[in-house]
Amino acid sequence: KVTVFGSFVVDLMARTPHLPAAGETVKGTVFKMGPGGKGFNQGVAAHKAGADVTMVTKLGQDAFADIALNTMNELHMDTGRVLYSDTTETGCALIMVDENSSQNEIVVILGACNTITDQEVDSLEDLVGQSEYLLTQLETNVSSVERIVDTAYRKGVKVILNTAPVQPVSDELLGKIDLITPNEVEAEILTGIRVDSEEAADKAADWFFSKGVKNVLITLGQRGVYINTGEKKGIIPAYKVDAVDTTGAGDAFNGGLLAALAEGKDLWEAADFANALAALSVQKIGTTPSMPVREEIDAFMAA
Ligand code: ADP
Repeated sequence: KVTVFGSFVVDLMARTPHLPAAGETVKGTVFKMGPGGKGFNQGVAAHKAGADVTMVTKLGQDAFADIALNTMNELHMDTGRVLYSDTTETGCALIMVDENSSQNEIVVILGACNTITDQEVDSLEDLVGQSEYLLTQLETNVSSVERIVDTAYRKGVKVILNTAPVQPVSDELLGKIDLITPNEVEAEILTGIRVDSEEAADKAADWFFSKGVKNVLITLGQRGVYINTGEKKGIIPAYKVDAVDTTGAGDAFNGGLLAALAEGKDLWEAADFANALAALSVQKIGTTPSMPVREEIDAFMAA
């Protein structure tokens, strides 16, 4: 049993011949709407990979909330611990993609999932206490992340922190993290060390260790992942695939990592499983909908 605590937003994506300038209206070509948010993507990835996931996020009372709930119901995910706001709308992301350059402009309004109160987090004590792992990110309000991590830490539940979207985090928070999973950019922003070699990754890992983090895993895009447990370190290569959309690769990876760790795989095996899951996801467009099911992952790894 694992808990994923994090954001939900509806992705509203428009493809356009060029990104509009201020005041300009452009006729776009394709519109797509679907579930997203780092927390939700990671929860769905872990669930589809076979984990017993309880997803905690916060929604408004509106049509966008139904997109989250319908997705969860279709996937047979438990919706019982979802939180609701009476006053704030469900989050959404307005994404414009230039179909020639693939450059994008995004405005994200986190909405309800940015308003999680201390009392709401405290209502999750029992759930967290029964979990083997808590996976969270930095996309809901920081106070909620700090509180849920503290709850897990007090109960001896292992915390995985995916440091996205990156922002400063307190030493107190870092001291409660069992496994931190930044990408290279996030690792550099947090540690001040540019992760451009394995020696540099060692230094970044040492920085995290000095703050009390137990295990460090830095995702390296198509190169795979760097892992350092303090006792053992190394790089697990990614799978070679033709990527069509790497948005959400980190989310796929973190969900896969959680699912594998919850099954009792060690960190090295879990990272390989997560690499496979992410490699499958980058071959499809979208975030939540591009997460593979367990059979696909097993077949891919066996091939
Ligand atoms: P983020 O999406 O947070 O920027 P990364 O780019 O580091 O994170 O990607 C996360 C993981 O996704 C990588 O560690 C790797 O397993 C997988 N991945 C990302 N890009 C590719 C790719 N082009 N081919 C295969 N796997 C990839």
